[in-house]
Amino acid sequence: MTWHATVLTLFPEMFPGPLGLSLAGRARDDGLWTLDAHDIRAHGLGRHRNVDDTPFGGGAGMVMRPDVISTAIAAHRPEGDPRPLIYLTPRGRLFSQADAERFASGPGLMLLCGRYEGLDQRIIEASGAEEISIGDYVLSGGEPAALVLLDACLRLLPGVMGGAESAEEESFAGGLLEYPHYTRPAEWDGRPVPPVLLSGDHGAISAWRRAQAEDTTRLRRPDLWAAHLSRRISGRQSPQ
Ligand code: SAM
Repeated sequence: MTWHATVLTLFPEMFPGPLGLSLAGRARDDGLWTLDAHDIRAHGLGRHRNVDDTPFGGGAGMVMRPDVISTAIAAHRPEGDPRPLIYLTPRGRLFSQADAERFASGPGLMLLCGRYEGLDQRIIEASGAEEISIGDYVLSGGEPAALVLLDACLRLLPGVMGGAESAEEESFAGGLLEYPHYTRPAEWDGRPVPPVLLSGDHGAISAWRRAQAEDTTRLRRPDLWAAHLSRRISGRQSPQ
């Protein structure tokens, strides 16, 4: 079945954007995934198709109205749609490779992109949307976040990436950052490639890569390293 993404946004012209090129673009041409993006303003109120209003309690900025968002969702989400509904927001849980794997193995996604100060809290709760952030920084809109999330999912769809083993060895797949890569020339600008990679000894290469992945993770991402260690310990303790 074709993996299908629906995006609700004030800027549908931003889609598919970069996802129409390269790996994801070719996969779309091959019919492995589809995307439709809809303008929330089409469900806006009055002659000016208003989608936002001032915040109750005062404060800066505008808030996207729950009635408008609700109508937009209803117009593009059939009853019983099995696809997760996601609201992209800096207040959400941090997006991870495990999320990408979960979403890619499902039927697709429906994504809500906020603008201004974001969505009225009541529509987030009433719609049951999962709140996801792509990082600890604030973007001006959910569209770039939706493109990032979709890119991470699309490359995991069966048939999109050549060589499934490249996904298995990548950063995060085994809980570690990936080892460093080298290609020709064997020496460049006075910098030789690590000799073990030229040795032809696959066992030694594999051990070297593992050690590099562990060292890099320990030094750069203590959070991932701690999780890796605790998985290793609980793995040892679990009955065989
Ligand atoms: N007032 C919000 C706050 O402080 O949490 C920020 C609103 S932001 C200017 C407008 C929209 O951009 C948000 O509704 C959300 O859809 C999107 N956005 C901004 N940063 C994001 C992030 N790190 N991850 C996902 N979406 C983000």
